[in-house]
Amino acid sequence: MAGKRHVILGSGTAGLNAIRTLRQLGDDGPIVLVSAEAPYSRMVLPYYLARRITEPHVTTATGRQLDEWGVERQIGRRAEGLDTQAAKLRLDNGEDVAYDDLLIATGSSALRPPIPGAEHARCFNFWTLDDAKGVSKTISPDAHVVMVGAGFISFTILNGILERAGRLTIVEVAPRILPRMIDDAGAALVTDWLIERGVTIRAGAEITRIAEQGQGLRLTFAEGDSIDADLVLMATGIRPNLGWLDGSGIETNQGILVDEYLRSNVDNVYAAGDVAEGRNRVTGAREVHAIEPTAMEHGRIAAANMAGKKIAYPGSLLMNIVSAAGLDMASFGSWDDDGAEVIAAQAPARRAYRKYLFRGGRMVGAILIESAGETWSGNDVGMLKGLVQSGVDLSAWKSHLAERPFEIKKPYLATGTTARLLPETIIGQPSPAM
Ligand SMILES: Cc1cc2nc3c(=O)[nH]c(=O)nc-3n(C[C@H](O)[C@H](O)[C@H](O)COP(=O)(O)OP(=O)(O)OC[C@H]3O[C@@H](n4cnc5c(N)ncnc54)[C@H](O)[C@@H]3O)c2cc1C
Repeated sequence: MAGKRHVILGSGTAGLNAIRTLRQLGDDGPIVLVSAEAPYSRMVLPYYLARRITEPHVTTATGRQLDEWGVERQIGRRAEGLDTQAAKLRLDNGEDVAYDDLLIATGSSALRPPIPGAEHARCFNFWTLDDAKGVSKTISPDAHVVMVGAGFISFTILNGILERAGRLTIVEVAPRILPRMIDDAGAALVTDWLIERGVTIRAGAEITRIAEQGQGLRLTFAEGDSIDADLVLMATGIRPNLGWLDGSGIETNQGILVDEYLRSNVDNVYAAGDVAEGRNRVTGAREVHAIEPTAMEHGRIAAANMAGKKIAYPGSLLMNIVSAAGLDMASFGSWDDDGAEVIAAQAPARRAYRKYLFRGGRMVGAILIESAGETWSGNDVGMLKGLVQSGVDLSAWKSHLAERPFEIKKPYLATGTTARLLPETIIGQPSPAM
């Protein structure tokens, strides 16, 4: 008898990892993939913009690969409704797709602020492959690009813009850049670094209007002044794709609420990735972590449970790692925990900054900034992630870190952190490269 009929909704990181895992675990049940877009990785779109890779490299599974996995597909189709009683998904062409179990991996969509004129053809999001193609076609070596929003996603595309455009201005409504990724001291360092490299930064600034001006656009600020741009990139936040679930009975908060098996409140409906609200590994709270590693791990755990294994997920680690204009920046876990004990230090000559946050002996969060290419930063990113993720007891090492904050290798090795993390292959088997 063939296994269960699995329906995977969404062909991003979570959906594709789920398909791969089902087959890797020997599940031979029918798989139906329903997805608005063909399989590709959003995370590599910045490299496409920078012309480091071409479109085929953005693809994460070819038709041939999906054939080999025996995946029946409905690409270009959207789910518009879910009937959990009848176990059927309603598609935008009116067709129903029946399932034994369903994985919702619909990711998130970019938000546009309600600024009059923001719908102009020269205002782009940078969330989908189509967005990336639009920007890539429009951008030119002498263009002035205005990026609205100075968060993690903006910073992932910063190198591409600097390579392809003449001038960049970053506008952020919060009083400083990267408000949800690093602290005030870190943001000050990054701001100085970017200004020295010719980037204009306007923080604490609100755009009230965008209007056509000659061949380009004019952006007016709440203060009354304005700037002209050849194109505008909006990186002003994202929202999980949940709207189509209205009336389905699936419980949601910011995302679909899932348990440690990535299961929703309905037994045979799972959720993974940006659309799922699962456990934060450090705090235990349920949160949406809209990052690639969470999507991959969620997809694999959900699939393992759909394949009949009972595998619990320890929770996802919030992390943002980006290198922009020659500066490495990373934050992990509860980097903004106001109640934590803090060790922080700067090494101005290296433009380096470290911040470690402790609850008791446990490092619950960390921030790292350092000019890219320093061997310290490359290694330290991995070690800091390991220390926060493993939750090892660093009580005996706090005074060492206070005295030598840039020397984390010793505590990392002495606490055996690598050995603690090695057995963690999420589903008990290594994850093949995507
Ligand atoms: C420019 C950029 C750079 C990034 N860089 C990084 C990075 O450096 N590090 C990092 O950790 N993360 C990064 N991310 C975030 C990362 O890409 C996402 O967290 C990840 O893609 C989430 O995977 P997912 O499978 O949950 O959703 P997605 O990859 O968004 O996939 C969702 C899928 O669902 C489909 N879909 C949506 N709605 C429906 C519907 N109603 N019916 C049918 N199909 C639907 C979509 O077409 C898509 O196939 C970046 C994102 C962008 C845009």
